[in-house]
Amino acid sequence: MKNTPTIIISGIVLSSALAAIYVYGQQSNSTTSTTSSASDSDSSSQQLQQKIVTQAAATQLSILSNRCRGCGKCVRIDPSHFSLNQATRQAVVTSNTNLDSNTLLMAINSCPAAAISLN
Ligand code: SF4
Repeated sequence: MKNTPTIIISGIVLSSALAAIYVYGQQSNSTTSTTSSASDSDSSSQQLQQKIVTQAAATQLSILSNRCRGCGKCVRIDPSHFSLNQATRQAVVTSNTNLDSNTLLMAINSCPAAAISLN
């Protein structure tokens, strides 16, 4: 019975140490996931930069007629490069100039059928 306070204090110290280890482990996990998010962000930034560089070097804009669904989204976003052929119900390219415009990039990325080709 003399050792009872010693046992209780040892238990408290041990449980505090376990709680501290648990909290440290949680912080390490959140730091790792934050690093992973930053890495994802860097990766998408690099992909966007690569698209812009590729777009700047492009000389030919075209519609892949076997893919185009005729939704007209590209025409609504960038009417300076696309129009809709009412007979075929497909998009057509109206201009091959200013191929490095952001509006064109937005239209290309918005096509639900990936039917716009820029080479
Ligand atoms: S957004 Fe794509 S699928 Fe829709 S009309 Fe334009 S090229 Fe065709």
